[in-house]
Amino acid sequence: MSTATLSAPRTKTAKSPVKIRQTKMLIDGKWVDAADGKTFETLNPATGEVIARVAEGSKADVDKAARAARKAFDKGPWRKMSARERGRCLSRLADLIEKNADELATLETLDNGKPYKDSRNIDLPLTIECYRYYAGWADKIEGKTIPVSGPYFTYTRHEPVGVVGQIIPWNFPLLMQAWKWGPALAAGCAIVLKPAEQTPLTALRVGELAMEAGFPEGVVNIVPGYGETAGAAISEHAEIDKVAFTGSTEVGKLILQAAGRSNLKRVTLELGGKSPNIVFADADLDSALEGSFFGLFFNQGQCCCAGSRLFVENSVHDQFVEKMLQRTKKQKVGDPFDPNTTQGPQVSQEQFDKVMGYIDAGQKDGARMLTGGHRVGDKGYFIEPTVFAGVKDEMRIAREEIFGPVMSIIRFKDMDEVIERGNRTTYGLAAAVWTRDIGKAHRLAAEFRAGTVWINCYDVFDAAAPFGGYKMSGIGRELGEYALRNYTEVKTVTVAL
Ligand code: ADP
Repeated sequence: MSTATLSAPRTKTAKSPVKIRQTKMLIDGKWVDAADGKTFETLNPATGEVIARVAEGSKADVDKAARAARKAFDKGPWRKMSARERGRCLSRLADLIEKNADELATLETLDNGKPYKDSRNIDLPLTIECYRYYAGWADKIEGKTIPVSGPYFTYTRHEPVGVVGQIIPWNFPLLMQAWKWGPALAAGCAIVLKPAEQTPLTALRVGELAMEAGFPEGVVNIVPGYGETAGAAISEHAEIDKVAFTGSTEVGKLILQAAGRSNLKRVTLELGGKSPNIVFADADLDSALEGSFFGLFFNQGQCCCAGSRLFVENSVHDQFVEKMLQRTKKQKVGDPFDPNTTQGPQVSQEQFDKVMGYIDAGQKDGARMLTGGHRVGDKGYFIEPTVFAGVKDEMRIAREEIFGPVMSIIRFKDMDEVIERGNRTTYGLAAAVWTRDIGKAHRLAAEFRAGTVWINCYDVFDAAAPFGGYKMSGIGRELGEYALRNYTEVKTVTVAL
């Protein structure tokens, strides 16, 4: 997702629609229908047409998958496999995803709507990197020896937490699966994954590749379905030791409550955001403009870390707003398979309606809409890139997560003021600052209550760099060595000498 990746050569373009190979669920190494035979439709957001019908998991299917994972974890070959061999399985999965990258990118674009050149040049490379990175960790998860008092030798073992439920969203289906599977599999856990109901197709295809890569039966199970049914069943299941969730703060709270009601399963959450992106007058304004544009409009604005409160210092505010307006007009909204397209549709009718509702709210609250605000075309869920200026902190568009191509530009006067206003949010996922003053940049990095701070860049991700939220943006960290903690228990062993 880095701007550097974006400027990489874009050579690959999908020519034909992809073959849908898999629509069943993966339980215990077998592709099966739902216990009650139900299926649900997954739609192409660019047309609103049905792509395929997919097996719809319910409580009974989650139960079957959890039991299969339990068996694989407690008794199966997974438990006895060496850490290095686990790493090799992950590495083979990365290779197979790379080999099938064109097909997976096509499937991702078809199901999610993101431009194919983004799927192929951003999502796929980051996904492959993530599996490779965690393949390398599998045999490097080490405990410590602890100097205790008395004639004892004490050491720790970092053991897999067990069966993990993973519930992922629709904005980066392949990548979110990789962020979840990579550390869990490196640590030696067994998985029940529920992809988002809007975008189940790539997860199922990766399931096929995982079987080909040699993961033993029951280690990875995939149950597509709805949140209130299959998702809720995962968060309440007594045989699931841990749940990892990425999605809305509202559902994150439900998952935490369900864990509390059931077996106190460990919970990590990666939730919403309302990230401040601060442009100082002393910044390189051209790169601040490009980075801020990308930081908001990338992925149709459907990023939890979107720079959705764009604070611009008074003295450069008007010129910056004018340039942003011109930059936004260059955005090409349309067919995600067209190589000239830079913005595809929103993922669903529901998201489309939600974003249009915020555009309405922005106007009603008195913000100045400079461009956009309308639907594009008469089919699919396309929305014009929209820019509001004159946004005030109390307005809904400055407080609530929009998750769409709607930019809110807010004026500020000085550093102390912008720190205070930037932090005045219930969220704390990311923040960014654009300035040539290195001291100022680091002071802001320290002051922001957010899990990631970007200085003179935006949306730069790396499998090695942790990501996650302060406050209501989440619990725990994904990626890097930190994510392994989500999937391990620490055992202390003491031996009398
Ligand atoms: P969004 O509103 O962007 O779709 P959600 O938080 O609703 O985000 O969805 C993210 C993931 O959480 C999806 O896989 C969805 O099916 C799942 N989900 C939704 N509701 C629940 C729930 N009550 N329990 C567990 N998972 C849920």
